[in-house]
Amino acid sequence: MERKELLYTGKAKKMYATDQENVLLAEYLNQATALNGVKKDAIEGKGRLNNQITGRIFEYLAAKGISSHYIQELSETEQLVKKVDMYALEVVVRNVSAGSFAKRFGMEEGIDLPFPVLEFYYKNDALNDPFINDAHVKALAVASDEEVAEIKKQALEINAALVEMFKKIGIRLIDFKIEFGKTADGKIILADEISPDTCRLWDIETNEHLDKDIYRRDLGDIIPVYVEVLDRLNKMSK
Ligand code: ADP
Ligand code: UDP
Repeated sequence: MERKELLYTGKAKKMYATDQENVLLAEYLNQATALNGVKKDAIEGKGRLNNQITGRIFEYLAAKGISSHYIQELSETEQLVKKVDMYALEVVVRNVSAGSFAKRFGMEEGIDLPFPVLEFYYKNDALNDPFINDAHVKALAVASDEEVAEIKKQALEINAALVEMFKKIGIRLIDFKIEFGKTADGKIILADEISPDTCRLWDIETNEHLDKDIYRRDLGDIIPVYVEVLDRLNKMSK
């Protein structure tokens, strides 16, 4: 597989074309950002860890019958993915109060929610990814009612599989963000990444943060913690 032209440079990845029309190469970068890019640092080793963590998680989901854009790992920092037409949506699923949810509703962090709470954000850096509801999604033609229903169904299935997976490795899945796209043949699938950059992961025993909140909140070095997540995934019994 040959790496061709650079198509997009994002905050955490570079996307390249390949010699296959429907296949892209995602290169995971050592860049960490928070506050929509206002806080930005190079962190040696992060790209490699997120590439591998995402790979292990997409492989686990595939074994559970959940498809994603993931094809295979190509190198320590690169993976091949199916090219999709992305929905301009960030889909957040929450199991436990934290982050913007806790802030918005004046709640403490760490309170179990009665059911998984799904939220949509409009993926638009210039607007700071605003919170949007189903009517907005339809009015802005981001997705149709049918597409929204399919995305919600898949997001909740993905949540159930991830909660179970992380439990096996002693991690409480607090919340996460995922993105979806449509393949050339019209199938809606999970795309982008699932990593400690995009999930809140707390150790089940100690409630220690095993995710990007360490960077966002200046709590220390993320690398040992990301290494710990990858190690636990590698040792997980399927
Ligand atoms: P951001 O755009 O938020 O800065 P990244 O640095 O992760 O994010 O860049 C990766 C970009 O590639 C994202 O905008 C994501 O929506 C897009 N993307 C991820 N997977 C695919 C795919 N399979 N096909 C097309 N675009 C993708
Ligand atoms: N998240 C993300 N990218 C974003 C915003 C949020 O991956 O641009 C993830 C974040 O890691 C957390 C979940 O989505 O796991 C919910 O984040 P929240 O809305 O609480 O936002 P925060 O206050 O952390 O920015």
